[in-house]
Amino acid sequence: MLRAGPSAADGGDVGGPRPWRRLELLSAALCATASLTVPLLPHHPLSSGAAVVGPVLLLAVVALRRRMPWTAAGAGLMAAGDVVFRVLWWVHGAPVVPSLADVGFVLGYLALLRAAQLAAGPGRSGASLDALIVVVGPSAVVAAAVHAPLAAVASTGSAWQTAQALVAPVFDLALLVLVVRASVAGALTRPRAALLQAAVVLLLVGNAGYLVLAEHAYDVVGPWLGAPFGLAFALAALAVVLGPAAPPVPRTGAGGSRLVLALLPASVCLPAGALVAQGLAGGDVDWQVLGTGALLAAALSTVRLLGALRTAAAQARELERLVLVDDLTGLPNRRACSADLQQALAAGDDRVALALLDLDRFKAVNDSLGHAGGDALLRAAARAWAAALPPAAGLFRWGGEEFVVLLRGTDALEAEGVLHDVRLATPAPHTVSAGLTARRPGEGPEALLARADALLYRAKDAGRDRVCTDAGGSAGAVGPTGSAGAGTREAAGAPAPTAS
Ligand code: GH3
Ligand code: MG
Ligand code: MG
Repeated sequence: MLRAGPSAADGGDVGGPRPWRRLELLSAALCATASLTVPLLPHHPLSSGAAVVGPVLLLAVVALRRRMPWTAAGAGLMAAGDVVFRVLWWVHGAPVVPSLADVGFVLGYLALLRAAQLAAGPGRSGASLDALIVVVGPSAVVAAAVHAPLAAVASTGSAWQTAQALVAPVFDLALLVLVVRASVAGALTRPRAALLQAAVVLLLVGNAGYLVLAEHAYDVVGPWLGAPFGLAFALAALAVVLGPAAPPVPRTGAGGSRLVLALLPASVCLPAGALVAQGLAGGDVDWQVLGTGALLAAALSTVRLLGALRTAAAQARELERLVLVDDLTGLPNRRACSADLQQALAAGDDRVALALLDLDRFKAVNDSLGHAGGDALLRAAARAWAAALPPAAGLFRWGGEEFVVLLRGTDALEAEGVLHDVRLATPAPHTVSAGLTARRPGEGPEALLARADALLYRAKDAGRDRVCTDAGGSAGAVGPTGSAGAGTREAAGAPAPTAS
């Protein structure tokens, strides 16, 4: 027989209307009843009815309520597998292995592992693998110690039975590690944690009991070996019923806890160490079990390592993105602008133009439409300006309602034309002022920015809604030199430049 334990919280809703809770409690009670009555009254309608109706009801309720769906589906699938197992046993007069029941057990395990993954928190998909690696090493050593009963199972049963007998306790242990880990991390409420831990321990008792007793006393205790499984399903069902789930665990990084990090290599080394110890002791060397355990642990560790590297690379990419992108508008931010500007100037290209843009009377927008309205305008303006710019131009959010346009390989005349288009693209009825300047030979970023800033102030002073430039081109309406200063001009749109 192969059974597995329920696992940790996998999200789900809270509380719930009474009729649903009654149905959930009923399904849990039926699972518990079946677990105790089936061994006592093997073919009694009460036990058979409870064994069939309990898990089916549990699955149906969960499908409709979607509370801890993976945990409940795992427990329900295994309980359903158990029902099939018992029915086949009754029909054939002896346990039938393998059978359709195994499908329920295997799918149940997969559902429980998924639940355990989710319980470990978002982005912690390595948690199940960690748990498996942590238990594979010790399990290989334990399996080598109980090799004799295993061999007995192999001699009387099929290879499938042997594999099940060996693998089931390993999975139970892995689930136990995960449930304890989720409980310690606070991902489960106390009653749920206690119920789920008890349920997995019961499954472990059942599977380990089968492993040890299969050879010697199966005729006597065999029927009772079903009891821990049924009780475990019932406890899992109760854990599902006992909402609400605790809030999800905060992430602690891709590497996992220090304890887990220390346990992983220890577990990987254990089977190989035991193999060496057996060799040194001069006794029988159980190379099949220990060697397989060592290889399995090494293979799982490799997969885990590759996963951790992938996660780290993805996090590094995300971090890079976050550092250089403005959250609100999605535009590259001030840091990205400084880097691009530095790069443009370092490339030695003197045909670099830079404009500092500032939305006019933006504070009034905030005051009238609220901060959210102001944010919406910032996003809309960023979109509109980006669409108006040539593909090679850079648009950055400098901070607040200020933006930078960086034009490389662009002469003054072209730059004025581009800024004219940008100004006209501003979402009506709002307007923007800009200071546009071109690089002077050998000039650094600070001087360029300072000049653009001064020109922006002049544009504001001159009445806003205009581009003030010293770039040397001749496009756009030219404003009065009086307000813009010698050598500067303003390109302003409708309404006509107030200063002209
Ligand atoms: P001027 O025409 O002279 O530029 O006037 P202004 O109102 O646009 O300029 P001022 O500097 O007085 O106000 C800018 C406002 O922008 C003040 C600040 O609260 C607001 N602000 C800065 N960052 C954000 C943001 O991310 N979202 C919103 N909604 N408002 C912001
Ligand atoms: Mg400003
Ligand atoms: Mg402003």
